[in-house]
Amino acid sequence: MSPDTRPGDPAIPSAADQGARRRTVLRAAGLTALLGATGVTRAAAAEPAEAGGHDVIVIGAGFAGVTAARELSRGGLRPLVLEAQGRIGGRTYTAEFAGEKVELGGAWFDEGHPHAWKELQHYGLQRTVDQAPEVAFFPAEQGYRAYTPAEGFGRLAELVTPVFDGSKEYFPRPLDPFAREDLVRPLDRTTLIERIDALNLAPVDRAWVTGNLGGLSGGSARGSLTQMAQWWALSDWNYDKFSSATSSRLVHGTAAFIEAMLADADADLRLNSPVTRIEDHGSHVRVTTRRGTTYRARAAVVAVPVNVWNRITFAPGLPAEYRRLAEETVAVPSAKKIWLHIRSDQGLFYAAGAEGVPGLGDVIPTQRLGDGHLAYAFSADPALDVTDRAQIQASLRRWVPDAEVLAVRGHDWGNDPFARGGWTYKRPGQLTGPLRAVQRPVGRLSFAGSDIALGWSGWVDGAIESGLRAAGQVLGR
Ligand SMILES: Cc1cc2nc3c(=O)[nH]c(=O)nc-3n(C[C@H](O)[C@H](O)[C@H](O)COP(=O)(O)OP(=O)(O)OC[C@H]3O[C@@H](n4cnc5c(N)ncnc54)[C@H](O)[C@@H]3O)c2cc1C
Repeated sequence: MSPDTRPGDPAIPSAADQGARRRTVLRAAGLTALLGATGVTRAAAAEPAEAGGHDVIVIGAGFAGVTAARELSRGGLRPLVLEAQGRIGGRTYTAEFAGEKVELGGAWFDEGHPHAWKELQHYGLQRTVDQAPEVAFFPAEQGYRAYTPAEGFGRLAELVTPVFDGSKEYFPRPLDPFAREDLVRPLDRTTLIERIDALNLAPVDRAWVTGNLGGLSGGSARGSLTQMAQWWALSDWNYDKFSSATSSRLVHGTAAFIEAMLADADADLRLNSPVTRIEDHGSHVRVTTRRGTTYRARAAVVAVPVNVWNRITFAPGLPAEYRRLAEETVAVPSAKKIWLHIRSDQGLFYAAGAEGVPGLGDVIPTQRLGDGHLAYAFSADPALDVTDRAQIQASLRRWVPDAEVLAVRGHDWGNDPFARGGWTYKRPGQLTGPLRAVQRPVGRLSFAGSDIALGWSGWVDGAIESGLRAAGQVLGR
């Protein structure tokens, strides 16, 4: 990084300049315009030796970063988005499998998600609902037992609901988790498993509850009670809404959603540009990528997952709360999502495991295919290889011995170097501890990401919420 690579501090453009500048996101970035429907086919950008002329640098092109970029451009600033990978979307990832569009990361939306819902309406994005299971397998005294879905999910609702007793009092306004901080603070030290065990459930009932909530949390001994209880409260303290938050997805995928938002931003995007160093010089920031290119701007929005904050060198170093959060991890470190093409006499089956059993945690069908059906599964088992069809078939046969897995496609989020974890699930103490501190700017840096959202943290909605906040901080300077 030599001093002669520093471009001049760009001036904030006039309104007329801004109008003249409205153009596609790919304009000056040296990219070939390959806005494929899946968003995975963009050409790699050839980074110039040096670049400047932007007001703000946004690091990370997930929903948080893209929201921030769009808002900054709406506010009259010219953002540059630096994305490590060859695609945008981050922990949302639309891919092809068994001739269908599938999501390897975030997928489901609900009208209870205020920010995401507003954007979906704004961009006119259509949703679809998955086909319902015809049979449901749950843990039994020995192995697993088949239930009708009404029976099985009815029982699950009865077992899960008491875990959240009192949440109407401690989360009376679910989008503001600190409305009754006096009640939340002591509870925030509790792990999910401590709360479940306080209910003294029979072993089979405990297996149902830990299988369901432990799976969602990525490990009931790791995660906090308050994270799940806030999701419960956000779902109107109601099991049906809690479970239906994961039932409707986008016809054209999350890729179409984020492409629509990015196309609406007057921002430049550079793919394949992992940021390694962020310097705050008081009057400006300098951001360096792995290839050694340095960019200069007045401010930066850091919109990468908390789990990778410690992979970037900050100069000066980040305050202790930021480092602590990144060391502890916020997103589930071993989260995996796997799509399966299944052939089985059982038809569309749902299967729930008991927590801690190796392999797939649960299996949820989505649609019938010409041959068999499509289903997805979650797992937090570090030993599960998401590419190993035979291992996945063996795991599936716990529930359905005749099931044949024809193909698999998964993503191991914990081993993804630019995620180092899956969906957000806070550990005890993180909500009432460092969360609010890390939402505040540090000098010329603002931070964004679903991991540090207030409301639907762990969802796309939270990413959008945080991107709006970070852009507001920069614009309000
Ligand atoms: C398996 C799974 C299932 C989920 N299911 C749902 C769901 O059904 N519904 C829902 O709403 N949400 C769901 N989520 C959560 C949702 O996907 C995330 O909350 C959201 O996408 C996070 O967005 P973000 O912008 O905060 O972070 P990310 O999407 O992680 O974006 C961060 C970006 O930063 C980039 N980056 C990282 N390091 C660097 C670097 N050094 N330099 C430059 N760029 C960098 C990354 O490549 C990435 O593009 C799920 C997540 C997972 C993993």
